[in-house]
Amino acid sequence: MKINLPCEIVRDLLPSYIDELTSEMSTKAVDEHLKECEKCQNILGEMKRDLVQEKQAEGGDLKGEFVGELQRDSTFDEDKKVILKINRKINRRLKLSIFMGLFSVILVFMAIYILYNEALKKVSIDDIEVTAKVYAMDELEIEYGTSMVTEKKDGKERSYEEKTAILHIPESYMSSVEVSASFLEGTEYLTVISLKSPYFLNRYTRDFQKQGEEGVLYLGGFRTTFLDNQPFSQDQMTNSMEFEKVDKIAYIHEDGTETVLWENEE
Ligand SMILES: [Zn+2]
Repeated sequence: MKINLPCEIVRDLLPSYIDELTSEMSTKAVDEHLKECEKCQNILGEMKRDLVQEKQAEGGDLKGEFVGELQRDSTFDEDKKVILKINRKINRRLKLSIFMGLFSVILVFMAIYILYNEALKKVSIDDIEVTAKVYAMDELEIEYGTSMVTEKKDGKERSYEEKTAILHIPESYMSSVEVSASFLEGTEYLTVISLKSPYFLNRYTRDFQKQGEEGVLYLGGFRTTFLDNQPFSQDQMTNSMEFEKVDKIAYIHEDGTETVLWENEE
């Protein structure tokens, strides 16, 4: 049976025909058509050339039969090969400069971010004023409630209800604080600590110690960020809490001597 396909159908089939994906029957019909149709032959030639150029640009291997055809094809001459090579060089350079440009922009942003947020500068203890207030737990108004907690463990999500406690703290900027209710079991005191400084304190260390009857909180390593280290016109307040009765807050110098920053006089 001889089928003569219309050009339009043949052209739709050509990409699969090149990749040898057409059925035996379709392949035969396309072959038949190509024998008689010069226009479709030309289109097939163009498609094969485009494919070869694409593969060359990717640096991939060429199928032997294509190369053979190219060498026989007078339109694909040495000039075209030279132009292809130049194009590839330009493409590579363009890609490299785009990459380098993006990379430098990212580096600059990282540097600014680190200087503003991560690179730390020491703040002198003389620039910090410490005050604290001790509250007995039973003096505080405590509001109990529940909240849903979602925990991820070993890739599994688990939700459970947790008893919470909202502590209302008078005369403090921390007017209320929410904690897990279990946290308050056996807790008798809460100390609210305020640090006043012309610098924004990005980091400092704390270490609570029981020394006999006395609770001592050691603060140290006060740091502000490198670029964000101009003294503010208004003092910055940094607040924290200790679920302990703090009697004394102190700083230990490098030589081991101690400066008392605050002492409970009540
Ligand atoms: Zn045709």
